[in-house]
Amino acid sequence: MRARRAFLVIVSLVITCLVARASEARVLLGAAALEFPEPTALTEPSLSDEASWVARRGCRLVPLDADERARVGEAAALAARVVSSPAFARSVSGRQDWVLRRAARWVRSAEAGREALRLLTASERRIAVLAVDDGAEGTCETLLEHAALHAYTPEGADVVVVQRSYLRDRAIEAVAATLLHEVMHVLGFAHPVGALDLDQPAYRRSVPVLLAELMLSSLAESDAKSPPVATMGRDGGL
Ligand SMILES: [Zn+2]
Repeated sequence: MRARRAFLVIVSLVITCLVARASEARVLLGAAALEFPEPTALTEPSLSDEASWVARRGCRLVPLDADERARVGEAAALAARVVSSPAFARSVSGRQDWVLRRAARWVRSAEAGREALRLLTASERRIAVLAVDDGAEGTCETLLEHAALHAYTPEGADVVVVQRSYLRDRAIEAVAATLLHEVMHVLGFAHPVGALDLDQPAYRRSVPVLLAELMLSSLAESDAKSPPVATMGRDGGL
């Protein structure tokens, strides 16, 4: 009888460990699942191109360590809490002037907010989150060294790349906004102007920027007693 009880305890411990590992392995933001693979586990041609592009500039694409995965988990939970609130849905659906790419043309659209929300809450995309190791010795001359850019989404890949120092050091609200911004890129929303034209009105009205800013203002309103949250500013990534 004791042996049977010991067996049951061991089985329950194993199950607990498996559940814990599973919960670490992915986090949800909207319906999208953020995962943390080894860069070598990814085979999309565009990511291979990206990895070599980054490597040529003295940087490395690296998997997230446990602390960084915990940061992403915390940030994604924060973003998901806002995204799932009825007030956020009302606010996004009501926007009239967002810029949306449609049939290769950029248009202002009253439907852009609704479309963004629909995809965010329904698209069960699996998105790999990787880091650029900008703390390594030597030069690391990527776009991420531009003061404004801390994350990007390689074209055509379900991948988000975050600057390691940004992920570790920035306010969790800023990381949450950046993740949401990049997830919107994966879901198909781009900017109508170049990556470095961040002050252009068309960039400011594009879906990834506006959705992340709306999330930050919702966070600020929902907890007015806490210190002011970091503004997105030019930290939204590429
Ligand atoms: Zn962007």
